[in-house]
Amino acid sequence: MAAATPQSILKEKFGYDDFRPGQGRAIKRVLNHENTLVIMPTGGGKSLCYQIPALLQDGLTVVVSPLIALMKDQVDALNANGIPATYINSTVDPREADYRLDLAGRGEYKLLYVAPERLELSGFLQELGGLRIDLLAVDEAHCISQWGHAFRPSYLELTRIAQELPSHPTVIALTATATTRVAEDIGQRLSIPPAGFINTGFARPNLSFQVVKGQDKDAYLLDYLKLNKDQSGIVYCATRKEVERLYLLLDRHGISVAKYHAGMPETERNDNQEDFLFDRKLVMVATNAFGMGIDKSNVRFVIHAQVPGDLESYYQEAGRAGRDGLDSEAILLYAPNDLGIRRFFIDQSDGDEDYKQNEYRKLQVMNQYANTGDCLQQFILRYFGQASEPCGRCSNCLDTREAVDVTESAQKVLSCVVRLHGRFGKGMVTDVLAGSNNQRIRQFGFAELSTYGLMASMRKKDIASFIDFLTAGGYLEAQGGQYPTLGVTQLGADVLRGGAKVSRKQAVKARASVAVDD
Ligand code: ADP
Ligand code: ZN
Repeated sequence: MAAATPQSILKEKFGYDDFRPGQGRAIKRVLNHENTLVIMPTGGGKSLCYQIPALLQDGLTVVVSPLIALMKDQVDALNANGIPATYINSTVDPREADYRLDLAGRGEYKLLYVAPERLELSGFLQELGGLRIDLLAVDEAHCISQWGHAFRPSYLELTRIAQELPSHPTVIALTATATTRVAEDIGQRLSIPPAGFINTGFARPNLSFQVVKGQDKDAYLLDYLKLNKDQSGIVYCATRKEVERLYLLLDRHGISVAKYHAGMPETERNDNQEDFLFDRKLVMVATNAFGMGIDKSNVRFVIHAQVPGDLESYYQEAGRAGRDGLDSEAILLYAPNDLGIRRFFIDQSDGDEDYKQNEYRKLQVMNQYANTGDCLQQFILRYFGQASEPCGRCSNCLDTREAVDVTESAQKVLSCVVRLHGRFGKGMVTDVLAGSNNQRIRQFGFAELSTYGLMASMRKKDIASFIDFLTAGGYLEAQGGQYPTLGVTQLGADVLRGGAKVSRKQAVKARASVAVDD
């Protein structure tokens, strides 16, 4: 019989004929004992990148994964394919855990899944040290970076573990969500050289991104769910209270709905999760506590009822739609006021000042996403450092309203920002342009500025949203975290000089919502 190869294992153990993009390269590197970072979209097939090498090496592959809920399923699936694997996490009692480690030591398993929290236990590293570990796979590797949106202190242990394990395992890190900065951070902490980054891109061509503004959210949601009442989807809320409220509202309207948040008893949460996974309930209303490790392929829509805290979280949560590759929708219901709750979360967090400023900056990007006139998919990919063409299917690409030349209005805003010498933020710029007569305007004598009251015929909220549009379009630049100041970019300066034009689709006029029967 011929020796096993990655290709033969793919076919015989997993039943697939061809590798997906990136898989073959990743496996080859790992088998050459070269540390590797795999960046692939959700559903791209990251698991095989370490499962196949695990089967081709003599020693053990340790998989660190925060997805405790998923571990048992993954291990069961491997066992069903005749692959000896096991897991150790908080759901396994200590005696059983010892027993499994013991078996691992005797070479009974090819893969051992562990929860990152284990790594912080003093004895655990020593126990691992007694095993012959050939490969250390770090799933959800962005959790190692403080710049990421899901930082886990226990992941920092991995740096030491990767260095100190006596068997010097090869390291493979995997993630579906990493900005350039986060990817660099992962590489540094796990000794993965840039040449070892395998990036197949983040694009999810089957997702249609939409931003819905200026609508009554409850009415929109009810309309949408009634129009799509045979489909499964997730509605994300910013708070537990909002989950409870929307759950009652939807339930009252006869929607097949379940709820999930961290404030519910565990048994109830688990029951609801199962109801959703097995399609006994079609819609899940939840906080972001729901979804990590949920592998439901037929989620047709993910709606965010409030704006999330950053674009990475948004993309990851929205990305739970359409894992099966079929067309699916990712909808953000946007209201500027919702940013307040996010700021509150940041203020209340126990990170240091640097951390908070970084969180504020990320929130700004999220706000720009909601206000950009550019392709939404492209906006997201650009944020992750990937160039792409307009997707042709997001709400901006499909926006057929005529673009209006708004160069003159843009010039008013830009010159106002110039007059304020980059020392003030959106609130002050809005007040000056609107000609507000408040304490701070008087204090700074801004009523004397030539730009004072230049846009007095507009509502303040529209001026503010126009400023967001200009920021999202790269004409203005917001600097600093909590109270960002506005400055004019190179592109903005071109507009001021009359060298570039600005156009905008007409402001959204609220579509009368389809009548909802009570
Ligand atoms: P990820 O972890 O990147 O989100 P998974 O590893 O869970 O993705 O894989 C997603 C799905 O794609 C799984 O059902 C997996 O069996 C399937 N898959 C992975 N690789 C291939 C392949 N080469 N050919 C066909 N299907 C594959
Ligand atoms: Zn688009």
